[in-house]
Amino acid sequence: MSQAVVDETKYQPELTVFDEFADEYGPEKVVYVYEPRCELKGIVVIDNAAIGPGIGGIRMTPTVNTEEVFRLARAMTWKNALAGIPHGGGKSGIIADPRKITMEQKEVLIRQFARAIEGLHQYIPGPDMGTDETCMAWVRDEIRRSVGLSSVLGGIPLDQVGATGYGLAVCGEIAQEFCDLDLKGARVSMQGFGNVGQHAARYLVERGSILTVATDIDGTVHNEDGLDIEELVRCMHEGKGVTGYADATKLGRDDFIDIDCDIFVPAAQPDVITGENAHRVSCKVILQGANIPCTAGAEKILHDRGILSVPDFVANAGGVICGSVEYHGGTKNQAFTEIAEKMRENTRAVLTKARIDGVLPRDAALELARERVKEAMSYRRSN
Ligand code: NAD
Repeated sequence: MSQAVVDETKYQPELTVFDEFADEYGPEKVVYVYEPRCELKGIVVIDNAAIGPGIGGIRMTPTVNTEEVFRLARAMTWKNALAGIPHGGGKSGIIADPRKITMEQKEVLIRQFARAIEGLHQYIPGPDMGTDETCMAWVRDEIRRSVGLSSVLGGIPLDQVGATGYGLAVCGEIAQEFCDLDLKGARVSMQGFGNVGQHAARYLVERGSILTVATDIDGTVHNEDGLDIEELVRCMHEGKGVTGYADATKLGRDDFIDIDCDIFVPAAQPDVITGENAHRVSCKVILQGANIPCTAGAEKILHDRGILSVPDFVANAGGVICGSVEYHGGTKNQAFTEIAEKMRENTRAVLTKARIDGVLPRDAALELARERVKEAMSYRRSN
């Protein structure tokens, strides 16, 4: 019988996760899950659980890899610490294309993955790209541990209630105190009109703002007199997209960037504002609804141009605050009260520190988050 030859180079790329990224904060655990019978390949990263078990989504895409999961887990460490919830950062990925498998195959993958991570008590799964509340219900059924559940299972469906959009509007209330902005009458440009964008628009309009620009994957609509949100939502539900809206000028998808507004909310994709186009943005405030919608270079240019940009992990924390309240048995009303309290407190703390230290809001936010994580780590057994 011939001896199996182990190709050691095959494992080299994964080792670089520790070589390149490990630092004093983590990652605490990187776990690979493999089940050949259903072709399950999964990755879990628990980055830092000093404050509490890490909450973070399960991402299902064909390209998700260890580095991506690590970066996302680290982002959750900072977001959760800054949000002031009793949770650390974690994230996971299942390598599969949700558009190319049946619901039955998806259920098998999710259930198998859930059973494999049952013993990882420092990780609480939630929904992310490619997974939703049905997936979270399967996870809960297997291991009694997940967030982002439907209300029938005692959950608070955060996309339905608009937790992240609500948080963005509250963030806007505080941002007013730090720049020449009044939410009343402020013109809002919303790039991305999905779960986050629709609710952020609603809650900003409730505060007196006017939605003048809406963009989705197919195009942009613009009307300085205001767009009717319910009509736009109807267009989305009917599959026409925002450009199905009648009473507006129709433009190309990327044309939103040249339209003057007061509040710009990127709520779609990463890397929308870059070093190449940041000089074209004309607004007073950016509330980052999407994750990493502005590159580091773009944030510096915006800052130098006097545009206040509230970073993603501060501005879009409403969803994870809602997930934390759900996990601890709270109601929707309690979640909204907590989102309002925490978003006000944290946005104000970050923007005050940025102003006093003369640094970018992102740098101020990172420093505050690191301080909180470090303090929690100081209570750990040292030997
Ligand atoms: P979604 O899929 O419901 O909506 C995305 C919207 O963006 C859609 O309207 C889509 O047409 C549009 N879009 C996609 N590509 C585009 C492009 N290139 N140009 C313009 N528009 C484009 O997603 P969502 O849940 O609203 O999430 C949006 C972003 O916010 C994501 O980056 C997500 O990671 C982030 N986020 C979401 C939550 C949440 O609670 N759902 C919380 C924190 C962060």
